[in-house]
Amino acid sequence: MQYWRTELNRMLLLAVLAFLVGLLFGNITLAFLVALVGYALFNLRQLYRLRKWLEQSPEAERSPPPESTGLWGGIFDGIYRLQEQERGAHEHLTNIVNKAQESSAALGMGIIMINRNNGLDWWNSACEKLLGLHYPQDRNQLVTNLVRDPRFAEYFQQNDYKQPLRLQAPGDSGRILEFEIALFGEQERLIIVRDISQLYRLELVRKDFVGNVSHELGTPITVVKGYLEAMLDNPEDISEKWRKPVQQMMQQSQRMENIVRDLLLLSTLETGTLPRTQDNIVLHELFGEIRNDTAQVFAEKNHEFVVSCDESLRVSGKRSELYSAISNLVVNAAKYTPPRGRIALSAEVGGGDKSGENGKLRISVEDNGIGIESRHIPRISERFYRVDASRSSETGGTGLGLAIVKHILTRHQGRLLIESTFGEGSRFTAELPAARLTNSSA
Ligand code: ADP
Repeated sequence: MQYWRTELNRMLLLAVLAFLVGLLFGNITLAFLVALVGYALFNLRQLYRLRKWLEQSPEAERSPPPESTGLWGGIFDGIYRLQEQERGAHEHLTNIVNKAQESSAALGMGIIMINRNNGLDWWNSACEKLLGLHYPQDRNQLVTNLVRDPRFAEYFQQNDYKQPLRLQAPGDSGRILEFEIALFGEQERLIIVRDISQLYRLELVRKDFVGNVSHELGTPITVVKGYLEAMLDNPEDISEKWRKPVQQMMQQSQRMENIVRDLLLLSTLETGTLPRTQDNIVLHELFGEIRNDTAQVFAEKNHEFVVSCDESLRVSGKRSELYSAISNLVVNAAKYTPPRGRIALSAEVGGGDKSGENGKLRISVEDNGIGIESRHIPRISERFYRVDASRSSETGGTGLGLAIVKHILTRHQGRLLIESTFGEGSRFTAELPAARLTNSSA
């Protein structure tokens, strides 16, 4: 407002002056014309000063705006204020970027930003050691040209980064790197690289140890069990007071044998990868086999088994493993469902767009047994986790069954879903990706 008032005063003064001079010389029009030209020249000069001031290079020492009054003074001050604000924001941002770069340089893990064209945008110094990246030579290079392992290219392109990827470090097969990718912005990616060599070696030692111990325990257990079986075959040879203890020893050695068998299976599942050539499994046949085998073992419980599966459904995978996974779920259903209960084994292909399941295969085992309290469900597939240890050992369980199921499903890119209502029953669903379905007309 102040600027406008000064400007109006200036124009008024000019008009009064032009009027008086016009009166004095007897030509008011000419006097006003001269005043107007003068005013226009004044404005042109201010514009010239503004342009000169704005033209100075950003690196040059910040000079204050040209001195002026009235409207032009307001314009100069306004622009100067905006410039100062922008300078402040710029400094603040530069500070943040510098701090982010300094702190990420101190990290042991590598961080790489990939632009929408899959080129390298930025990376921290750890990547130089982990992947041999060089700044600025590698900038904008395709990431798949720098990490040349085909498994990385496959992982990078799949756009589904739930599981991290483990690879040997380029040029150093002794080091194991773990890659995790997150999508952000417009098709940009952030790659996090960790050196997990030590963890990997520890895992190997643990797996070897479990595998070796289970293997070594196999023979002694078989021998002890063999003798106990022989003793129980002729119970009249055992004195009365030893009969019950021998029976219990037999039960426990059977349990030990089961544990060792499951541990060995888990250790082979953990160490080996799925073979490239896989079986083409006719699902309803597999279901029939599992139903018959389980019904036979639990014959005295008289369960009602209901199997529903489209005869055209075929799945690619390792038959023995998928048999083991589904059979574990059906055996559990039989173990934890009272006599004359109902056990349903079914398969369905996820119904497309609405459910968002995009043709995934869901194999469900549903029972109306004892159910599981919701607090146990998140932990139930951990090794040796039991809801009720006493009941589980009664049923001959090892606490490893669901861990095995989970491992097998993960090896087949699937997952296990558990729903249960305590006292009413449970539903275990093995979900397999649509890509595992072969020749299905569903
Ligand atoms: P276990 O050999 O003890 O059965 P699992 O890993 O197969 O070990 O199962 C872990 C626990 O999950 C079991 O001890 C049991 O308490 C519970 N569980 C598994 N399946 C069922 C089911 N269908 N109904 C109720 N409880 C179940």
